[in-house]
Amino acid sequence: MKTIVGLEIHVQLATATKLFCGCSTDYRDDGPNTHCCPVCLGLPGSLPRLNRKAVEYGLLVAKALGMRVLEESEFARKNYFYPDLPKAYQITQYDKPLAVEGIIEIEDDEGHEKIVRITRVHLEEDPGRLVHVAGASKYSLVDYNRSGIPLLEIVTEPDMRSPQEARRFLNKLRTILEYLRVFDGDREGSLRVDANISLEGSERVEVKNISSYKGVEKALTFEVTRQKNLRRRGQTVTRETRHFMEGRGITTSARGKEEEHDYRYFPEPDLRPLRVTDWVAEIDLPELPAARKNRFMAQYGISPNHARTLTGDPKLADFYERVAPVDPALAATWVADTLLGELNYRDMSIAAVPADRIAELLGLLRAETVTDRAGVQVLREMLDACAAGRPSERPAAIVKRENLGRTTGDDFSAIVRTVIASNPQAVEDYHAGRKGALNFLVGQVMKETRGRADPRELGRIVSECIEKGEV
Ligand code: ZN
Ligand code: MN
Repeated sequence: MKTIVGLEIHVQLATATKLFCGCSTDYRDDGPNTHCCPVCLGLPGSLPRLNRKAVEYGLLVAKALGMRVLEESEFARKNYFYPDLPKAYQITQYDKPLAVEGIIEIEDDEGHEKIVRITRVHLEEDPGRLVHVAGASKYSLVDYNRSGIPLLEIVTEPDMRSPQEARRFLNKLRTILEYLRVFDGDREGSLRVDANISLEGSERVEVKNISSYKGVEKALTFEVTRQKNLRRRGQTVTRETRHFMEGRGITTSARGKEEEHDYRYFPEPDLRPLRVTDWVAEIDLPELPAARKNRFMAQYGISPNHARTLTGDPKLADFYERVAPVDPALAATWVADTLLGELNYRDMSIAAVPADRIAELLGLLRAETVTDRAGVQVLREMLDACAAGRPSERPAAIVKRENLGRTTGDDFSAIVRTVIASNPQAVEDYHAGRKGALNFLVGQVMKETRGRADPRELGRIVSECIEKGEV
């Protein structure tokens, strides 16, 4: 059964002020209803004034996705009655969106390049936020700080064939938006997704309310299973809207009268139509992920995998470019593999890591002053300091304090002898030709020496020692 997925993505544009008023968009650390004015509260008599920056950001996205900007686009009123919308209509774009017909390339499930078509992008205002308070007397609180934040709604064709493709699409889109610097993915709720999903030959289900891009794959995977099970039991999938319950990883039916809207769209009389095609030519695109990946491979001679990982986030790519001069290949391995792993483990952002200190560590590794293993220890000490908000010590100081400097095998001969003497079984296994025995013995010596010796060198010394019977 073929799975068919299309997405509607709402992205908060990272402008300093709201879409139709001068209120600050930086509201997340402030109390409720502190970033509001008559315009974004929808008070009678207030008039919207379009934020030029939001249009520019929308055009940047349209250009990056290869879209056609309409000669004339228009704002419309989408009428509905709900407390998150004080005007009782949302100003959005309807039959004349900002731009149409774009593409994003992703990898399909077989690893081949495929194209996902973008139907349209349009500008609209974010509604306020409702907080439903559970308890004995159920009630809801409303916060209009979010009301009027500029959104870019990005609509795709139903071109994705699995939840995994949807995830890859969203990762790609997010990376492009971050490269364009029109979007801050670290802000909670800055990217929200509605997903349309169907099995070929069945009705389509819309899953709303997916507030993290990681939740999209989960919600879609749940839906594929649910819909397949229905069909297997001979039941039909009904066309409906469902909500994703992030915490439980399931979708629930949201049928009911309040979901049946008649939006009565009509042109917004308080805003002029937009004519911005001349402006598009003046907009300069920055280097985008695909171009930067190719440049990294050519300029630094690193593998396609490392280049892809390093350019997957512009902050990470910038970081790499700051430490690459020490040794591009060594830096790629340490940043893409070791450092990223340590950051994920600590749930830390690359922004918290001092590049100059990492460059110093790479210098020590390149000069073989420390082994890889000791290097990891130094890195962990530095990251722990950063995570605790302390300035990181210089790597050389940590090496000195912890006595982590690389030493040659000769300095460990006593330890090697002790390990060999106290593991006769492993020595016997070694003579019997079992490869694991040597690794075991080297591991024991590594443990005693706290990783200060090079494992390959130790392997040579240990086997020499056994073969000479020097114990
Ligand atoms: Zn306002
Ligand atoms: Mn919308």
